[in-house]
Amino acid sequence: MQIILLGPPGAGKGTQAAVLSATLKIPHISTGDIFRAHIKGGTNLGVLAKRYIDSGKLVPDDVTTDIVASRLNEEDCASGFIMDGFPRTIPQARMFDEMLERLGKKVEVVINITVEDSIIVKRLSGRRMCSCGRTYHIDNNPPKTEGVCDVCNRSLYIRDDDKEETIKERLKIYHKQTSPLVDYYQGKGLTMNFDGSKPIEVTTREILDSLKKTD
Ligand SMILES: [Zn+2]
Repeated sequence: MQIILLGPPGAGKGTQAAVLSATLKIPHISTGDIFRAHIKGGTNLGVLAKRYIDSGKLVPDDVTTDIVASRLNEEDCASGFIMDGFPRTIPQARMFDEMLERLGKKVEVVINITVEDSIIVKRLSGRRMCSCGRTYHIDNNPPKTEGVCDVCNRSLYIRDDDKEETIKERLKIYHKQTSPLVDYYQGKGLTMNFDGSKPIEVTTREILDSLKKTD
């Protein structure tokens, strides 16, 4: 099955992708991971992408599409894939469709995980990190003493990405870019919406049940 996963930061996409990948036996393709692999491997596309990233520019859509295409050409994608992080915009979606057609593939399902912004802000802004690698959450997994790591006693900190203002900005960008994308796939009859504010395993069950019905 050829799947695109959409959802805001903090919607639990990574966790859902991991479970779906294991259950459906298809690879989870995160564009972030492919980029890092190309850059690390020093491929032509990697060198090109790095040049843009290092100069603070966005990697152009055609370069991103080529990088994704090279991954989808690999053998483990023969029976499907779960795309995560691409496409993000309508022009990318159009390029993606054309590229898939060239590869003899097509998007079959778009899984759209929705969570209200206020819940995401609460989820992400409550995260606390320790330099020893432990992570906490002020509501779901609090340390025994506020602000202090249970294991090493160091002070906990908030990642820049988890600061409330940063989260709100990321959500704003997400909604602006992705709402049209949801409509684009809705128009093709491919979008399935899921409520990501439920416990992770409940959402997983709902996704798997819905996918079974499309078989
Ligand atoms: Zn610690």
